[in-house]
Amino acid sequence: MEMLDILIIGGGPIGLNCALEARKHHLDYLIIEKGTIVNSLYNYPLYMKFFSTAEKLEIGEIPFISAATKPGRQEALEYYQGITRQKGLNIHLYEKVLNVLRHDGYFQIKTTKTSYQAKNVIIATGFYDIPNLMEIPGEELPKVKHYYTEPYPYAQQKIVVVGSSNSAVDAALETYRKGAEVTMIIRHAEISPNVKYWVKPDIENRIAEGSIKAHFHSALVEIKEHSVIFGDENGILQEIDNDFVLAMTGYLPDFDFLKNSGIELQGDCLNPFYHPETMETNVKNLYLAGVVCGGKDTHLWFIENSRIHAEMIVNDIISKSN
Ligand code: FAD
Repeated sequence: MEMLDILIIGGGPIGLNCALEARKHHLDYLIIEKGTIVNSLYNYPLYMKFFSTAEKLEIGEIPFISAATKPGRQEALEYYQGITRQKGLNIHLYEKVLNVLRHDGYFQIKTTKTSYQAKNVIIATGFYDIPNLMEIPGEELPKVKHYYTEPYPYAQQKIVVVGSSNSAVDAALETYRKGAEVTMIIRHAEISPNVKYWVKPDIENRIAEGSIKAHFHSALVEIKEHSVIFGDENGILQEIDNDFVLAMTGYLPDFDFLKNSGIELQGDCLNPFYHPETMETNVKNLYLAGVVCGGKDTHLWFIENSRIHAEMIVNDIISKSN
């Protein structure tokens, strides 16, 4: 069996950047991706706009030309998939990595299709595959969505949007503008300060004028087929009619996969251990890259600030082999 220099798990923007860096240094690499190229972006809301400007999303020093200052999902798909095609990146799609086992001096990587051997492994698996569940009765009903794609199915429907971050605010505004009756259930006292600065006044003004209802300091306690029950900080419960729940409660990295790979998870946020200068974990020659590094704190890392991981990791791999 061929021994790769680097096996990269995850073909997101950061996994691709790791591949470009490995390619630049003539290392023998392979990306294994369980979906399509940049699968998380493919599953984003259809009309989303990045909060980053195009140049902050660039990888491999390849210009990201966008007509608008902030690109949308389709432009980002064109950019990252275009790079993969034009640079001929070595990537296997629709193949999931099941486990990574360390042997003496190398890794054995088992996938849904076959097995590989590599001297180094980079885990760049992101956090968009596992929704952060509310764990309340009724969450399993088909009317409850943890992923929002577009507003049209919700026209003239009674929608509850849970959360107040960018995903929740975008879903509330888009569905309201297509004629949904929108109620937001928000755990905190206000709309998240992380909401895109040009969107925040829009949602705050819609709430202030009563076009979108918002209950702050509140949480859903039960979802029924035609209604939901929520409670406030004083424990007072209310039941309102409801057709769909958009639970925009965030997403989590695959902690079982990290643990089974031997990576230590630390503190309340289950932060995976890595050396900040090299991105190497507590397992020798096993690296982390991209937004997976933040554990439960999924607001810590972005494409913008984690692009640098690729260079740090490949430099470390090269320095060890010299
Ligand atoms: P991902 O893009 O999530 O890539 C991980 C890949 O790994 C996926 O393709 C997944 O299919 C694959 N994978 C997972 N497990 C396995 C496995 N076991 N085997 C094989 N493949 C696997 N960041 C910014 O900098 N600017 C923005 O404007 C911005 N906007 C965002 C908007 C939204 C709606 C969201 C959710 C996030 C946004 N982010 C933004 C945050 C972040 O940059 C993205 O989440 C980005 O996709 C992270 O890149 P990544 O490569 O680390 O992870």
